[in-house]
Amino acid sequence: MRNKDVLISGAGVAGQALAIWLRRLGFTPVVVERARAPRDGGQAVDLRGAAIEVARRTGILDAVRAARTGTRGMSYVNSAGKRLASLDGAFGVISPEDVEIVRGDLVSILYEAARNDVEYIFDDSISSLTDTADGVTVTFERSAPRTFGLVAGADGLHSLVRGLAFGPEPRFIGHLGLYLAVFTIPNELELDHWQLIYVTPGRSVTLTSARGNREARAIFFFAADPLDYDHRDRGQQQELLAAAFAGAGWEVPRLLSAMREAPDFYFDSVSQVKMESWSAGRVTLVGDAGYCPSPLSGQGSSLALTGAYVLASELSAADGDHRDAFARYQQRMQDFVERNQQLATGNAKRFTPGSRRQIWLQNQGIRALPYLPGKNWVLSLATKGVKEAANAITLPQPGGGGNSPAW
Ligand SMILES: Cc1cc2nc3c(=O)[nH]c(=O)nc-3n(C[C@H](O)[C@H](O)[C@H](O)COP(=O)(O)OP(=O)(O)OC[C@H]3O[C@@H](n4cnc5c(N)ncnc54)[C@H](O)[C@@H]3O)c2cc1C
Repeated sequence: MRNKDVLISGAGVAGQALAIWLRRLGFTPVVVERARAPRDGGQAVDLRGAAIEVARRTGILDAVRAARTGTRGMSYVNSAGKRLASLDGAFGVISPEDVEIVRGDLVSILYEAARNDVEYIFDDSISSLTDTADGVTVTFERSAPRTFGLVAGADGLHSLVRGLAFGPEPRFIGHLGLYLAVFTIPNELELDHWQLIYVTPGRSVTLTSARGNREARAIFFFAADPLDYDHRDRGQQQELLAAAFAGAGWEVPRLLSAMREAPDFYFDSVSQVKMESWSAGRVTLVGDAGYCPSPLSGQGSSLALTGAYVLASELSAADGDHRDAFARYQQRMQDFVERNQQLATGNAKRFTPGSRRQIWLQNQGIRALPYLPGKNWVLSLATKGVKEAANAITLPQPGGGGNSPAW
């Protein structure tokens, strides 16, 4: 087998899933992660369609199911906290097989599955890549230089590997007009597997219980053109969030004050990554780094998990020949990625309606939904596109050779 030594940048969903599968298929992956440990934090993410089958093959599906959030439903509230409209959680179910899980729990499950067999380098980052005929020489910010057969960038929306191997970020990132912030706080409202959602024009805040109601997550969306800020400056990001929500009612002032003490804090633009090719020479991209669909699609973690599995399988099938494997990886994933990216289109307005009238109409619609004749038909029509996109790939066999349907 060629190119057995593979460096993976990023210990998120894509990077760790890739490490597990490469190791299982006879490669020697090394994961470098900028943080001191796999990063906790973030809201709940969904696994559905092909990603459920990949989780099963990876051997993590039982653990993922055991950690599911079990959210029972949600209520929309006004600035005084009065519940205006409620929706049973069953309305949001696209397919009963789907799993909603806190992102940090998914990352921990993958870490547990990988940590004994995979070398991790924490608190470090690649600083340069030199791609030669025989391998990629990599220098790090802290560790000594090393040479690898291949490098996979699984380092998220603002991928460093993409920047080094393909060029500056603005060429590949499309901003969808929103920003997202998420942090953990105590479950002071004693929510029981429930979400409260407060919407004002151009802004929304969701408070949801998490991890068996032991904690809560505050999730903020706001509409804004691209903002200029340092992606690693938490203080600056918190100021931007506080400014965007100045004057907002409900629990918002208390949440913004709790934000300063939060154990985690995630802030980013809601954006997509679109590239003609995810690979250049011996370097390839996986997950958000290459094809982020954005949180509005609900498919970021599913694409990352599936992409990692497909990439490892194609490398194994090609006996480590990256030229063949990278081409087949893109071929197999391209349509799946595009269809899932399309799910985000138009969703921005649903998260942050622009006027009080739109908010009122949205609440009326939610209130009427349970009483609509033919509501099941309406719902199945509304979720059909998501179901189809989530399954729109034929998964390869783990070691290559042959295909198997995703469902
Ligand atoms: C802390 C956090 C919270 C998130 N919260 C949400 C959320 O609430 N909702 C949502 O829809 N999506 C969220 N996301 C994005 C979501 O995780 C991804 O869309 C999806 O899971 C695909 O994952 P990924 O592995 O491709 O990228 P990510 O999950 O972003 O993982 C990328 C990893 O690469 C690491 N990394 C970045 N730069 C470097 C570098 N130079 N060197 C080494 N490592 C590096 C990061 O620390 C991270 O661990 C979050 C991501 C992170 C990192």
